[in-house]
Amino acid sequence: MNAAFCTTRMRLALVVVAITALAMSCSGKPMDRADLVLGTVCSIRILDGGSEKALDAAFARLREIEASMSANAAGTVVAAINEAAGKAPVAAPADVRYVTGKALWYASRSSSAFDPTIGPIVKLWNIGLDGERVPAPEEIQAALPLVDYRSVRVDDAAGTVFLPRAGMLLDLGAIAKGYAADEVARVLLEKRVKGAVIDLGGNVKVVGKKPDGSPWRIGIQNPFDERGEHIGIATLTGGATVVTSGVYERYFIAEDGTHYHHIFDTKTGYSVNNGLVSVTIISSSSIDADGLSTTLFSLGLKEGMALAESLEHVEAVFIDEEKRVYLSSGASAVFKLGNQAFTLAQLP
Ligand code: ADP
Ligand code: MG
Repeated sequence: MNAAFCTTRMRLALVVVAITALAMSCSGKPMDRADLVLGTVCSIRILDGGSEKALDAAFARLREIEASMSANAAGTVVAAINEAAGKAPVAAPADVRYVTGKALWYASRSSSAFDPTIGPIVKLWNIGLDGERVPAPEEIQAALPLVDYRSVRVDDAAGTVFLPRAGMLLDLGAIAKGYAADEVARVLLEKRVKGAVIDLGGNVKVVGKKPDGSPWRIGIQNPFDERGEHIGIATLTGGATVVTSGVYERYFIAEDGTHYHHIFDTKTGYSVNNGLVSVTIISSSSIDADGLSTTLFSLGLKEGMALAESLEHVEAVFIDEEKRVYLSSGASAVFKLGNQAFTLAQLP
């Protein structure tokens, strides 16, 4: 139909039809999109208020974060910071400085059990990438002195990040996905999404409300089972996040049968080996939950639980090798254990 022939009433009807169609696409079937970004499967499910534009914008932001923060790819800002270690500060956008600053904060809160300069150790082991291997003890000893978060210089006035010693490597892998989840949530809300679930390789954040008004229910991964199996359910309101760090995420089994995973003890340079198999954080900020899940895992049950208890709006679920589950004091209000193979336990 030629618009020039439209009467005012017809135009009005067209607008009404357009609005109705929009409303149907918004509250109709869920919209799903998944892609490989940040080294993992990132998926977004919009239940209310979805649009292709919202999904495009969300994945564009994810790729932007990958292009600046990935330590494994060439050409990223983090790669440039690493190449210039011992030489010169490197211009870094505000988001890279923010995420680096957060990582340094968790490093200081954990006396370096969490340390974003773990890069030289990560690189030696190469777990989850081609060429994973058990490094020689001498290699580990040579790399350990380069793990030193205290020497990192983030200069907000100059807009730079500097690693003062050659060979130092910044690795934001323990915290970048959390930041990315917060950013995707922000972008979706900006695009008028009303209800969505963001899942960045198990780093989950819920946005807004479910169309039927019921709370969000997110399963917590069973660390002894294949992906998809749960040990229980977290019941959440919009804006909440569930992030898990565990021995099952990335690992390899050495020739002698030893299971090495991707969270490293900054003192020994070997995988953290403290009896824990996973730590889940339930909170509202995904960058903090991601930073904390790795931090508490590295600290171990006793010290990790103490740190969780000292923070507002943070709940933690620790699981150990004996399938014992330890909850922070407010966790039972948001998490229900549903798997008979696991038992709730109290800290000694
Ligand atoms: P995932 O990436 O599976 O969600 P984490 O958030 O726990 O798991 O991050 C693990 C990653 O953090 C490792 O792959 C590595 O890049 C980095 N890392 C390993 N050990 C440490 C550590 N002690 N402190 C900070 N980052 C670490
Ligand atoms: Mg983490």
